[in-house]
Amino acid sequence: MKKTLLLTPGPTQIPADLCAALGRPIIHHRTPQFQQVLKEVQQGLQYVLGTQSDVYLLACSGTGTMEAAVCNLVSPGDKVITVEGGKFGERWTELCQVYGGDIRVVKVTWGKAAQAKQIKDLLDKEPDIKAVFVTLNETSTAVSTNIQAIAEVTRKTDAVLVVDAISGLGAMELKMDEWGADVVASASHKGFMLPPGLGFVAVNEKAFKLVERCASPRYYFDFRKSKKALAQTDTPFTPAIGIIIALAESLKKFREAGLDKMLAEYARLAQATRAAGQALGMEAFPDAECCSSALSALRVPAGVDGEKLVKIMRDTYGVTMAGGQDELKGKVVRIAHMGAIDEFDLLAGIGCLEKVLKQLGHKFAMGAGVKAAQEVLNA
Ligand SMILES: *Cc1c(COP(=O)(O)O)cnc(C)c1O
Repeated sequence: MKKTLLLTPGPTQIPADLCAALGRPIIHHRTPQFQQVLKEVQQGLQYVLGTQSDVYLLACSGTGTMEAAVCNLVSPGDKVITVEGGKFGERWTELCQVYGGDIRVVKVTWGKAAQAKQIKDLLDKEPDIKAVFVTLNETSTAVSTNIQAIAEVTRKTDAVLVVDAISGLGAMELKMDEWGADVVASASHKGFMLPPGLGFVAVNEKAFKLVERCASPRYYFDFRKSKKALAQTDTPFTPAIGIIIALAESLKKFREAGLDKMLAEYARLAQATRAAGQALGMEAFPDAECCSSALSALRVPAGVDGEKLVKIMRDTYGVTMAGGQDELKGKVVRIAHMGAIDEFDLLAGIGCLEKVLKQLGHKFAMGAGVKAAQEVLNA
């Protein structure tokens, strides 16, 4: 019988205790029992986000939280900035287009990160820009952006900083209040080790002023409804009850292990993965200074068919890594370091990568990747 090992940057592995929590009989959401869960989840998410602000729970995938942010903040004709350095940055632009935003796009070469100075120059020139949309962890390229530096710029202006932290939250540092990020969007199926279906968005007071003035149509995703309900420890519509109950358990893990410790562990796994890649002739795709610690993208060696590599690992050996998207199709292999993935999952994954690289004719010393990873992990 073939076992499966999921090393993709969303969905991620669900540990056994969270599977058990997901399997509990459902309870009704307008009850004191569920209100207790909502309270725990609110506090737990505030801990991971480093915020005192409200966190709204939405029944949707990650993109739903992005659309919610845009339709609550961007009125037709509003000037906004989006940062595009990959597939998910592009999604901010597409969403702002749909809601009639007047968009200034900061185009970044894939594999590089936007610099705060680029945002500052645009905001200096046009102080009436309403919002800046960025991505903490650009999952398509494995680039992390320095949100703290960008927040340093936006907090001195009227512009609201909106962060897609869908694959970054719980896997990389993000201190919403301390840094001054105004809206942070995330979801259940990446760093939080749960199935897709639950999104969450934290909104601070500065951003909520824009929410109240926003002229865009919205119904299901109206943050004004979310805020009103949350004040009563409630949700406007039927929430993703089962996932929220399991999220309370997931958040306990962050508390018990300590967020900083978990983030340090992911960073260690990322370092080991990049060392393995180097030993196998698979350099990290992003520039060294912006390599994410939530996932790694390793370049497929010349002469190896990247799509075949990923397919054989998955279909023959049960090891699922992600391939490249769009312009990186067939060119990179992406391996997650988030949620329940641990060092032995990683070593197994690298072992499988070696096996299939060998089958596809790539020349290297068998075991070199595992050895390099072990050296980092046991330093
Ligand atoms: C996964 C992801 C999304 C989109 O999430 P869906 O759940 O597929 O809608 C958005 N942004 C980033 C950075 C992601 O990793």
